[in-house]
Amino acid sequence: MFFLFGAGSKHVTTVPLDGLACPHCGTTGSLEVTVLSRYVHVFWIPFFPIGKTTVSVCRHCKQALRLKEMPPVLQAPARAVESSAGTPLTSYALLVVLGVGIAFIAVVGWLNSGKQPAARSAPQESVSSTAAGLAGSASANTYEQEGQRYRLDEAASGGGRGLYRLLEVSRVTSDSVFYRLTQPLHRSPYNDSISVALKDSVPASQAKLGLSKVEWKQATASNGPFQRLQ
Ligand SMILES: [Zn+2]
Repeated sequence: MFFLFGAGSKHVTTVPLDGLACPHCGTTGSLEVTVLSRYVHVFWIPFFPIGKTTVSVCRHCKQALRLKEMPPVLQAPARAVESSAGTPLTSYALLVVLGVGIAFIAVVGWLNSGKQPAARSAPQESVSSTAAGLAGSASANTYEQEGQRYRLDEAASGGGRGLYRLLEVSRVTSDSVFYRLTQPLHRSPYNDSISVALKDSVPASQAKLGLSKVEWKQATASNGPFQRLQ
């Protein structure tokens, strides 16, 4: 992509200088001052103004003088005309277009940013209330339930393949979970056999094992060694 820059000029005003004589032909009342606004354009769209050009023209002899070329008697009124001539807004056409575009984007962005927090706040409130509910229930020891059963594959703890152990939560305190753990078992657990195994296959040394709340959460995580049963 390329940009085509350039300079252009636009007529601002033409004012007759009554009572002054032309410095070239001496005709009185034939002079007029014209002010042009110069601007930089991009693709012929005025971008920003870069100044003014002021010339005096004699309608009689057609002599044109720039401000610097004028005799002082002509320069003073010409400067007055120049300074009273405003810069046309069209000299800023592209800036105005860009400004309106940026303002539009800003307003749209502002409106969206205003909406999003409102849209988010509802779920956030429900999440925080859920979290508060969880925290409250955790202090009531419901992060684990007594009687909940788990399966521990021996392979997960470095034991023999195909062997597994069963766990049953026996007691839950505010910071620990106690459980009983069977000796390694061979067959896949069925509901009946689970109850029997948890009654008959728990060595005395494994009847009251305990883990802290943090350790328990790690052990029973979805990728942890304790696989929850039902
Ligand atoms: Zn003249």
